[in-house]
Amino acid sequence: MAEIAHAERAHALLSASGASRWLQCTPSARLEATLPDSESEAAKRGTLAHEIAELKLQKLFSGLTTRKYNAALKKYKADELYEPIMEEHTNAYVDYIQSIVHQFPSPPFVGIERRVDLTDFVPESFGTSDCIIIGSGQLYVTDYKNGQGVPVSAENNSQMKLYALGAYKAFSLLFPIETVHVAIVQPKVWDQPSEWSLPVGDLLSWGESIKPIAQQAFNGLGEYVPGAHCGFCRAKATCRARVTQIMEAGAKAPMKPPLLTWEEAADVLKRAEGIVSWYSDLKKLALAESLKGGIVPGWKAVEGRGSRDYADLDAAFKHLQEKGIEEAILYDRKPLTPPQLEKALGKKEYRELLEESGHVVSRSGAPTLVPDDDKRPGITNQVKPEDVFGAPPEQPKTNTR
Ligand code: SF4
Repeated sequence: MAEIAHAERAHALLSASGASRWLQCTPSARLEATLPDSESEAAKRGTLAHEIAELKLQKLFSGLTTRKYNAALKKYKADELYEPIMEEHTNAYVDYIQSIVHQFPSPPFVGIERRVDLTDFVPESFGTSDCIIIGSGQLYVTDYKNGQGVPVSAENNSQMKLYALGAYKAFSLLFPIETVHVAIVQPKVWDQPSEWSLPVGDLLSWGESIKPIAQQAFNGLGEYVPGAHCGFCRAKATCRARVTQIMEAGAKAPMKPPLLTWEEAADVLKRAEGIVSWYSDLKKLALAESLKGGIVPGWKAVEGRGSRDYADLDAAFKHLQEKGIEEAILYDRKPLTPPQLEKALGKKEYRELLEESGHVVSRSGAPTLVPDDDKRPGITNQVKPEDVFGAPPEQPKTNTR
């Protein structure tokens, strides 16, 4: 049994995808609604990957004909944002959905791109769940994420819990539900989906617990609370609360000159996290404001360093070759790196052709400093710095004569 709902990818003021923000910083949703929403290229690519994934599920579960499937896929593949690796990543998602469906003794209900009503818990809210599967007292809610910048865990994920609440509301009269399983398939980050389960009673209690917070967020009330959730906030560059927190990073307590202790350095590093990306976001906004004629006191937009380009590449190279310049001089032939080849060939073929035949060796990355709650094991400096960073520049010899 499969149901398809072509829900518009519209967003409520208090969207499920933004819940990690408005649950912690309640006035953020109303503030964001006053700011322009510019969709990044990565987000547009994510939408395209979602459409391909949806198409594949339609073919499997709703009897979409091969002709219609091929025609739609051809259209998606012609999109300038299409990447061949999307084929493999969306297949991983579809395989995962199939693996869930096959666990049931009889065909479960499958809802694809289902719009769910969240208004029992969050004012005027709705969301679109990528896939809902229900059968034998089990509710599965799965989300596909195309991004790689921020790994997203299913555990205690408020977006997924809201989708599950919406699915419960829509289907609990038709199907008994005891346990809820949420999962995030993010093939660019995890080899395996991130999964998390909870009893339906716990989900409903959580839904009750967020009602007053959601009402406060709907009213635009409460304190601005900066944190890791600011990363996708439209106000992240100019939000006073966030800027105040960032600017206070180095000014907690007067430190005695001349040098920081490692305890002080650790504290400053922790408090200044995110300062570089925030500064660059703010600079981009101020540049846009200057370019449209606005005044950013003490700053102005100027032309950056220019560059040279061929008026007509083909004509220029033809001309050069006619004048006797050899092709070897004109082209820089570079082998693709293993990650580039993996993207071009797809994971399976790459693994078979290169990894399994021993043509690719893995080297450790350069050491990097991370907060101590990072999941990777810590390393100590068992190698000399020059093994990692290269040999230091040669010091001038002192003339001792
Ligand atoms: S940037 Fe952070 S603190 Fe500011 S409104 Fe957005 S979520 Fe709240």
